Amino acid sequence: MPDGFDVVIVGSGVGGGCLAHALAPTGARIAILERGSRLPREERNWDPEAVYADAVYKSDERWFDGSGRSFRPGQFYYVGGHTKVFGATMFRFRREDFCATEHAGGLSPAWPIDYETLEPYYAQAERLFGVHGEAGADPTEPPRSGPYPHPPLRHNPLVAEIAERLRAQGLRPFPMPSSVQDHDGGACVRCNTCDGFPCRLGAKGDAETRLIDPVLRHENVELRTGAQVVRLSADAAGRRIVAAETLDGTAVQGDLFVLAAGAVNSAAILLRSVHAKHRDGLANASGTVGRHYMNHNCTAVMAIRPFRANRETFQKTLAVNDFYLGDGEGGPPLGNLQLLGKIMEPMLRNEIRAVPRWARAWLAARSVDWYAMSEDLPHPESRVRVRDDGTIVLDWRRTNLAAHKTLVDKARRMLRAAGFPIVLSKAFSKETPSHQCGTVRFGHDPADAPLDPFCKAFDLDNLYVVDASFFPSSAAVNPALTVAAQALRAGERIAATGLH
Ligand SMILES: Cc1cc2nc3c(=O)[nH]c(=O)nc-3n(C[C@H](O)[C@H](O)[C@H](O)COP(=O)(O)OP(=O)(O)OC[C@H]3O[C@@H](n4cnc5c(N)ncnc54)[C@H](O)[C@@H]3O)c2cc1C
Repeated sequence: MPDGFDVVIVGSGVGGGCLAHALAPTGARIAILERGSRLPREERNWDPEAVYADAVYKSDERWFDGSGRSFRPGQFYYVGGHTKVFGATMFRFRREDFCATEHAGGLSPAWPIDYETLEPYYAQAERLFGVHGEAGADPTEPPRSGPYPHPPLRHNPLVAEIAERLRAQGLRPFPMPSSVQDHDGGACVRCNTCDGFPCRLGAKGDAETRLIDPVLRHENVELRTGAQVVRLSADAAGRRIVAAETLDGTAVQGDLFVLAAGAVNSAAILLRSVHAKHRDGLANASGTVGRHYMNHNCTAVMAIRPFRANRETFQKTLAVNDFYLGDGEGGPPLGNLQLLGKIMEPMLRNEIRAVPRWARAWLAARSVDWYAMSEDLPHPESRVRVRDDGTIVLDWRRTNLAAHKTLVDKARRMLRAAGFPIVLSKAFSKETPSHQCGTVRFGHDPADAPLDPFCKAFDLDNLYVVDASFFPSSAAVNPALTVAAQALRAGERIAATGLH
């Protein structure tokens, strides 16, 4: 296909994939520009030494933090984006997440749309990703227009026993919604290398298998890998984007442009796109591009029974939301607890180096592993910037940490009461931007947000941003399904209103 596309989408992850899915049937000539390559299906996909200790799939890119220290961020640049290694947990945000909510650490702002507006697109996204779940089991679940596409994932015997023990404490654990394809005809073999690993069998509902591969069956859609977009260029009036410029100097031209490069990279692309009429970067009249960066406060919690090895596989099937909307004692929201993929010794090596290898192996052989997640609140000084040479600076100011500490304390008590006398915890580092969001937020007021409620840039006639950048708040459940739902909504709107 020659250059001069109707639509140029930057990024082939959740947002870019859903947008392409929505527009492909229109016949529009679509280019998807992806900086990464296909992630090969190979033996080491499931090797914790390769994936964690040697970090073979992690990008070699270096960013700087707010104090000028260089680090190698937990970024994975592949067709399918971060979903190639994601845990496949597919939560809808709660109805309350769309409303202003007071947290221990401050205010979580209202979204410009309510849950009901997004509900049909959540349902569509669940079908696209093939989500398993049980409607009505999660006490904080928002209303649904129908059941999950697939029944809930089966718990292994140990997880089923833990669920019973949590119920005995008066809690309401429930099967976690997941896009792992563990159903008749699905390729899942219920292994332990799912969360944080690529799937060798393609059995994880990720953006490559569920979105990009199907849209490429349309002749009007082209995927260009190795196409790292550095900046966008606009016409002299500064109203229309005319090209996406890649690292190798190519200018890919089009009528409509969609940024879906992830919340850090999309902000960086806009900030690098300085123009005579947009000195602070494109779509940035509000001065908020790159600001309000959020990334959940997350802690790994290992619950250990010293005299019982955990020989079960496939444990990421249970979650607890009893502390999501409040602490259970009349206090503010704390967050979500969910099982993690099984922690193995090589995964601990770079985290607790001081602990001898035999001790790490002993812990990992006995642990059931949890993930505690609390809301991070938007702060204008928590931000993405770019240096003069274009390198990314990620200055994350964490918020709401007291709530997160209380959540981890609750988890500790809950797990001890469930029969695990040793409970260890380790916060995820600042170098792991897994749930990055908020840097190009949507809103009603152009003075306060770069995007309108459909994720179109207020300042430009032909630019949308549909990755997790648009979140005005981070909520405290996993983000991918919400990115998908809003990208489908934006895509439907673009298809209905024309591509120009
Ligand atoms: C280890 C891990 C586990 C996770 N587990 C879960 C989970 O269980 N559930 C959940 O909901 N979320 C999970 N997430 C988060 C989830 O993957 C992201 O929220 C989601 O992928 C965000 O979608 P996106 O479209 O914003 O970005 P992405 O899906 O990451 O897509 C961005 C795309 O843009 C490409 N790109 C970046 N820069 C450029 C550029 N300059 N030019 C061209 N292309 C570019 C990237 O390579 C990528 O393909 C996890 C993330 C990680 C890292």
